[in-house]
Amino acid sequence: MISLDNHPSGRHFLQIPGPSPVPDRILRAISLPTIDHRGPEFAALGKKVIAGLQQVFQTRHPVVIYPASGTGAWEAALVNVLSAGDRLLMVETGHFASLWNKMALRLGLQPEFLALPGNDETGLPVAWRRGVQAEMIEERLRADREHRIRAVCVVHNETSTGVTSDILAVRRAIDAAGHPALLMVDSISGLASADFRHDEWGVDVTVSGSQKGLMLPPGISFNALSPKAMEASKSATLPKAYWAWDEIVAMNQGGYWPSTPNTNLLYGLSESLDMLLEEGLPAVFARHRRWGQGVRTAVRAWGLPTQCADEHLHSPVLTGVITPQGIDADALRKLIHERFDLSLGTGLGKLKGRMFRIGHLGDSNDLTLLAALSGVEMGLKLAGVPVAASGVVAAMEFFAATPARERGAGARA
Ligand code: PLP
Repeated sequence: MISLDNHPSGRHFLQIPGPSPVPDRILRAISLPTIDHRGPEFAALGKKVIAGLQQVFQTRHPVVIYPASGTGAWEAALVNVLSAGDRLLMVETGHFASLWNKMALRLGLQPEFLALPGNDETGLPVAWRRGVQAEMIEERLRADREHRIRAVCVVHNETSTGVTSDILAVRRAIDAAGHPALLMVDSISGLASADFRHDEWGVDVTVSGSQKGLMLPPGISFNALSPKAMEASKSATLPKAYWAWDEIVAMNQGGYWPSTPNTNLLYGLSESLDMLLEEGLPAVFARHRRWGQGVRTAVRAWGLPTQCADEHLHSPVLTGVITPQGIDADALRKLIHERFDLSLGTGLGKLKGRMFRIGHLGDSNDLTLLAALSGVEMGLKLAGVPVAASGVVAAMEFFAATPARERGAGARA
């Protein structure tokens, strides 16, 4: 909590992988007076944000908005399409995949949790350094001849590790096995930063949240649906009332919700969608990819390994950095926070104390990222971590030599 008696000058560097720094334009939109959520002005807002979200999810089908954090939308996804005792296939890619798995168990489902075995030379689990292995899914689904597995659940961008997964490869694996399982994807931290195509990739339910690529404060989350998922929800019997899609989708036709929506966050969402769509999604994705490359250039120069061990799967949203054995990554984070007013993401679950995460999303640019990297570099030196070379200098050279695409250059027609 920032104390008003001792307010640090300048801006805090919120460099965690969500909640992301919120652009002033969005903060201003959120500060507008709250209006009647049953009035005509509201209906225009409701319809506008749903249409904008459909563009961002790249879907023609309904997108449901919940006044809840991402965890609520995880639960909504499961309870709408599944029944007690249903079998699921989930894949251990990190902490968030593990939490979704734990939720499925609490709901009385029977998830199988696939994982690559063992630890590697860093002492960390291999499964938490690589993405979903689509061939493991295909093999497991082929063995399920009676089609008892009802859904495959995977995380698109593992925020705990900085590793992405190839969702189209998962779709193809399900199809190659000739299996009818639903494909459910958590793109809570991928959406609006990493390319994500709900319809084209044949996803049945996509779960997302406001506080990452959409650059909003936490507080709203989403389920994007497919016709197959909507059909499954008619016969699914896990208890659902508040989360039930049917009433929400029906009322959304008129731009309204059955219960009180989060009006001011919807103003922010409307502004965020304008910003993203004005820039054009391909340009937004390219911007995040380039930031990721710049940050990895710094990490390589320091001589530290990234949490992601697969060159093709680096997240455009965040970079996980493994600290040398014996260096407590949380003590390093604490030092950097105290000395430089810079917040880095902690190592979660099995990665506690062994790594930290640098977010490159939200209201950022080359210079804010370079400033964040300088805070990390100073912290590494103060903590006695031997750094091979200056990551800041390497990143400066990268950003100077690699111009960003022009604003609007990737705008969609
Ligand atoms: N899934 C992923 C990939 C996340 O990054 C998060 C939060 O960071 C969650 C799920 C949980 O969402 P929330 O904390 O908004 O409830």
